[in-house]
Amino acid sequence: MSEPDELISISALQHYSYCPRQCALIHQEQTFTENVFTVRGRFVHERVDEPETRTEGDREIQTSVPLVSERLGLIGKSDVVEVLPDGSLYPVEYKHGPRRNREHDDIQVAAQAICLEEMTGKRIAEGVIYHHGSRRRRIVPITPELRAKVEEITKSVRALLQSGEMPPPADDPALCRGCSLKDACQPELVKSGKRIRQLTDTLFEPEEDAV
Ligand code: SF4
Repeated sequence: MSEPDELISISALQHYSYCPRQCALIHQEQTFTENVFTVRGRFVHERVDEPETRTEGDREIQTSVPLVSERLGLIGKSDVVEVLPDGSLYPVEYKHGPRRNREHDDIQVAAQAICLEEMTGKRIAEGVIYHHGSRRRRIVPITPELRAKVEEITKSVRALLQSGEMPPPADDPALCRGCSLKDACQPELVKSGKRIRQLTDTLFEPEEDAV
């Protein structure tokens, strides 16, 4: 069982899977800034931010459900948990924008499923990403591979947060373009600083036989 101070937020797994540096900036240095994507995300989540239970058609809808896994040391919240008439459970994560496959979203919903399993003793075969922009649902099968990835990333996040180190910027400009932390992170500046240091080291490398 993990000590409370070792509990890792499920959102840290999603951030790490997107970019380890983003995870460190948010969960180590408490840096958080808004961009158009986070504002849209906040707007979408306002609909499911209050805990309540209601019925829609044949299923019960529970919103803002607290989650924990003592085995993995994870803590978080599911936007929605749907309870079907046969008792099966589906964690549902709300996302802004149109339907699209994104592994970091899948990691998040799989981590929610693993927590729910531990809390209820029920096996969860699928989770759902609800894309608010297109009003479409994407089913995420909670496969053995996805479960293994959640466990692996949990270990990596824990090691990162314990090390206190700041990972280098991502090598993918597309990731940085959509990242709310771009101004705080300054990926290009950090990379060019590193290039200058490498160049300086090469120029002023000591002679092999220098004493
Ligand atoms: S700006 Fe790029 S490198 Fe920096 S945290 Fe965001 S995704 Fe990572």
